[in-house]
Amino acid sequence: MAPTPDGTPTPASAPSPTMDEIVRLCKHRGFVFPSAEIYGGFRSTYDYGPLGVLMLRNVKDAWWRSMVQLRHEVVGLDAAILSSPRIWEASGHLANFTDPLVDCRNCKERWRADHLEPDSSDGKVHCPRCGSTDLTEARAFNLMFKTHVGPVEDEASAAYLRPETAQGHFVNFLNVLQTSRKRPPFGIAQIGKSFRNEITPGNFVFRTREFEQMELEYFVPPEDAPRWFEYWCNERLAWYVGLGIPREMLRLRPHTAEELSHYSAGTSDVEFLFPWGWGELEGIANRTDYDLKAHAALSGERLEYFDQASGTRYVPYVIEPAAGATRTMMAFLIAAYDTDEIGGEKRTVLRLDHRLAPYQVAVLPLSRNEALVPAAREVLDLLQPMAMCDYDETQSIGRRYRRQDEIGTPLAVTIDFDTLEDRAVTIRDRDTTEQIRVPINKLADEIAGRLAD
Ligand code: ATP
Repeated sequence: MAPTPDGTPTPASAPSPTMDEIVRLCKHRGFVFPSAEIYGGFRSTYDYGPLGVLMLRNVKDAWWRSMVQLRHEVVGLDAAILSSPRIWEASGHLANFTDPLVDCRNCKERWRADHLEPDSSDGKVHCPRCGSTDLTEARAFNLMFKTHVGPVEDEASAAYLRPETAQGHFVNFLNVLQTSRKRPPFGIAQIGKSFRNEITPGNFVFRTREFEQMELEYFVPPEDAPRWFEYWCNERLAWYVGLGIPREMLRLRPHTAEELSHYSAGTSDVEFLFPWGWGELEGIANRTDYDLKAHAALSGERLEYFDQASGTRYVPYVIEPAAGATRTMMAFLIAAYDTDEIGGEKRTVLRLDHRLAPYQVAVLPLSRNEALVPAAREVLDLLQPMAMCDYDETQSIGRRYRRQDEIGTPLAVTIDFDTLEDRAVTIRDRDTTEQIRVPINKLADEIAGRLAD
């Protein structure tokens, strides 16, 4: 059977999507669900569904590949989430990781003091909910989640859910140095969950209380820190562009002196143009020797590097590219979201890089006819070891193509009745909708070629 082109897509005319469109797509197609929805949801927490879990994993894999696999000087780590108060005492989080909060005495709502502006009419700060001006003084609210380990709930059993993955790298500095035989410049990479009791979570998964981070701590000789800071800013910006975010939707924004964290000698954020404006995807910070020195002071351990060649001992500086996996996944979804028209029919298409798409290939028998099943299964068995495949035999082929477009599957392979005669299948490209006919014995090579990095 000749390929059946379903029309050449006309160029996208749609502006970037609204958040409503993204949230709807995520829910409708199984990327992200509000958590505990059957109980009315639970306080800005989200669950990643069948497609979300695949895509989030791909985002993390792409990061790991570029930060660990393709480098000789970076090793991995997976440190504990439940952590000793001593870690956060040394890091400064117990004292400094706070937001200023005010309470409204009238309606009892709580607000970030730095988010409230005096009203121009009377010069007073009003509660955004009830309008009252009866607000408490601002007080520091620590964003760390505190819990207790073991059966007794007292100060001796206190523990914290980590608010960043980073301190795990520092408290394991000597362990990694001794076992990996690395020397500066070298890095420790970690991906995992972090927890912050955010006062104002929101914008879908942009700001949540439980989220995933991808953090590299890169240890360098102190005098080289400025150069490595530059290097990592450029490198990290290029990572987002390389995975398909248009350059004009990204910017690097240096922090002002007032914004800098307590440990930082310089920070630049990689920002993305979200539907509501610019927002941070990643912070790249020169953390100096702050953390290693603080942990050395509290633990009594010498957290230093001894350079045998020169016989000198020093505390390395640290450059930290710290990205959010969940927030970044949403940015990739927004950047990929597009609409166009095929043969007069509107379609939504996620133009995701194949490395990020939940499925790389959809295997689609033309109909549910039993006769097609053996060939369709043969194709699935052939492709599953090399790519994540969706297998779908319901509905018309046109509707199934639209569904695959909407979830970003770059390639669809269709098995039809001619396949039974000529042992060939049709490959359809998501972006161009072009179709070509390929013999099954050349299919694996053809797909591998199209999915090469
Ligand atoms: P923000 O200014 O948005 O609160 P931050 O500067 O406190 O972020 P970092 O401590 O630099 O964030 O954390 C590194 C990355 O972790 C952020 O760039 C972001 O991608 C992610 N991240 C931080 N807080 C959250 C959150 N509450 N929800 C989702 N992702 C987050």
